[in-house]
Amino acid sequence: MNLLEFISKFPDESACKEHFRLQRESEGIICKKCKSDKHYWLKGKWQWQCAACDFRTTLRSGTIMESGKLPFRKWYLVMAFMSFSKKGISAKEMQRQLGHSRYESIWSMMHRVRDAMGKRDDLYKLDGMVEFDEGYFDHNVPRGIKLKRGKGSQKQKNVAVMAESTPLEDIKTGKKSKQCRYFKMKVLHSHKEEFVNQVVNDNIDFNSVVFSDCSLSYLAISDLVDVHVSEESNPNSVKNTLPWVHIAITNAKRTLLGIYHKVKGAYLQNYLNEFCYKLNRRYFGERLFDRLVLAVAKIYW
Ligand SMILES: [Zn+2]
Repeated sequence: MNLLEFISKFPDESACKEHFRLQRESEGIICKKCKSDKHYWLKGKWQWQCAACDFRTTLRSGTIMESGKLPFRKWYLVMAFMSFSKKGISAKEMQRQLGHSRYESIWSMMHRVRDAMGKRDDLYKLDGMVEFDEGYFDHNVPRGIKLKRGKGSQKQKNVAVMAESTPLEDIKTGKKSKQCRYFKMKVLHSHKEEFVNQVVNDNIDFNSVVFSDCSLSYLAISDLVDVHVSEESNPNSVKNTLPWVHIAITNAKRTLLGIYHKVKGAYLQNYLNEFCYKLNRRYFGERLFDRLVLAVAKIYW
């Protein structure tokens, strides 16, 4: 999908609603009340009715659009601009492009889309060979909070960065290299072991081999995965053992800084969701928009 195709495929509100209905049906409509998956479509009402208990499900209910009242076409335009721009687009720029009067509603829509991106990626765990490290991202400290002297780290958030990498050997040259598939970035409450363990548990499959440096916070990783390989950190080990996480951290910081300057700590996870979602689908090309609509049409109850 590109802009021209978007304009011809989604000329008005009912084209978007009809498309959204089909996306939801392709994922399956589940009744919130009785969990039945058999429904009738009530055409004039834009609702499904449960065949078992008559409970009605609206087009938006259960999705990230549920509480909003903005037209579907605005949502579709937001998803289109977000997927067409490779790096991302600021809410201010989106507001300008859509000619929308309220900045807040655009900002909130974009964060909900980023939330859906994160939820979609959370459906999968990384497995195989996984690099693990932490990056430190600058964030805006809320006004009124006094920083303790000498604690520059309070202006930064720890982010666990994980990358699934497969070692490849060039048959002709015998040269070893690593190719990367999927990435995850999760804001950590702190560098403490308990938070690291939680993130590893939630995001990396038990049968994986995890590579990290020798931080004391990583001691228990070996209990959570098949094999844990830790290596003393130096510039060489970073290049050889953890190349992808470091490339990802550098690129994420550059992208976030370029578009949003400084982000508030509370929203950092959402921006990282968008960054990883696009990175993980870097070969999708024009299919990215369609996949994003599916992620937004998903219900989470
Ligand atoms: Zn029902």
